[in-house]
Amino acid sequence: MMTDEDKVAAGWERLNSLLVRLARPAPHDAPFRNTGTLVNMPVTRGSTVLFPDLDTMRRVGNGRYDHIAIYGAMGTPVQHELERAVAAIENGRDTQIVSSGLAACTTALLTWTASGGHCLIPDSCYGPTRRFADTMLRRFGVETTYYDPLISEAGLRALMRPETQVVFAESPGSHTFEIQDIPMLARVAHAHKACLILDNTWGFGIFTPFDHGVDVSVQALTKYAGGHSDVVIGAITVAKEEEWHRLRDAAIQLGQLAAPDECWLTLRGLRTMGVRLARQARTALIVAKWLADRPEVRRVLFPALPDDPGYALWQRDFSGAGPLFSVVLQPSYSRAAMETMVNSLSRFGIGASWGGFESLVLPTTGGVTRSLPECHADSPAFRLGIGLDDPADLIADLQQGLARL
Ligand SMILES: *Cc1c(COP(=O)(O)O)cnc(C)c1O
Repeated sequence: MMTDEDKVAAGWERLNSLLVRLARPAPHDAPFRNTGTLVNMPVTRGSTVLFPDLDTMRRVGNGRYDHIAIYGAMGTPVQHELERAVAAIENGRDTQIVSSGLAACTTALLTWTASGGHCLIPDSCYGPTRRFADTMLRRFGVETTYYDPLISEAGLRALMRPETQVVFAESPGSHTFEIQDIPMLARVAHAHKACLILDNTWGFGIFTPFDHGVDVSVQALTKYAGGHSDVVIGAITVAKEEEWHRLRDAAIQLGQLAAPDECWLTLRGLRTMGVRLARQARTALIVAKWLADRPEVRRVLFPALPDDPGYALWQRDFSGAGPLFSVVLQPSYSRAAMETMVNSLSRFGIGASWGGFESLVLPTTGGVTRSLPECHADSPAFRLGIGLDDPADLIADLQQGLARL
């Protein structure tokens, strides 16, 4: 039988060989490539694209769905190259690059909802997605119901309304790491002709959304793909032509794109994403297991741990784990004690975001909104993003931190 370790190792091998193959120039890009001397596509900055005559301008202008250079705001060659790469990693048809991960969430919601509609969003979603649903989306006449990320099929069916246009998912959930049953969500959404949108940021490269029934996958490429904490960028990927046309039209109308330099940095990050993630995920598992055995710790929220409630679904659907998880302390500790501990860490930077080469810590308590009763609300908690550090250094740092509790 294949162990978790074998299965995960095979997953990383597949991802690495795909990422390296993606770096090979495709023949149809020839006009935009430096012929024969450079491995990578150069950054091409520009607004105006010149055409030899009006007929050509009209013909090329009709190619708005084809990832070709028409006008700078509709994407430059390096953006289109990144779009092809992300679509291949997600195993989708087409990708639209947007200015940030949040823009990917909001643009997708705007594209697949309309006034009078209804949207189901998991209670464990990324905070700014919730804020958008509660403010702008509501102002445009779209109502949102927050659902338990671990809801049953019958429970979800009961929440569907005739006007439900979108079932949104995020798996695992932000900060609390619940793994959602994506094929089940797809069954229910599709029975009601609703669109299933997944925030697949944690699962990039290790969860292929369209093989599990997802219609639209959104990404904060800021995280793993960028990988060096020096770029903010997002992506929306679809699997069907009809959805691609709808998405592309919306992105053009909203003026969504990313600057060529950001696209170039992200492409560069992609080349090593697999080796970085394999290493970071391995360290994350070592650190998570160490923490789970500590008396100060009530629970570690990480689906790659065999006693995590999400483990079975993670094992069924994912080919690896992301280097991000949360730690819930025993309820006897105060929030102030947890903050003292966090402040004492020297190997973990205090800051938002994750997926870069460096390790980060962020308190969850006080910073996360939930409308349903929160499972660990009575215990202080924090989130760890594991970088390329030596696991022994991280454990030693956490050990001195826990001693301060
Ligand atoms: C970081 C993140 C986003 C937003 O990405 P930005 O590029 O920072 O705007 C969206 N969803 C999830 C799950 C994230 O972790």
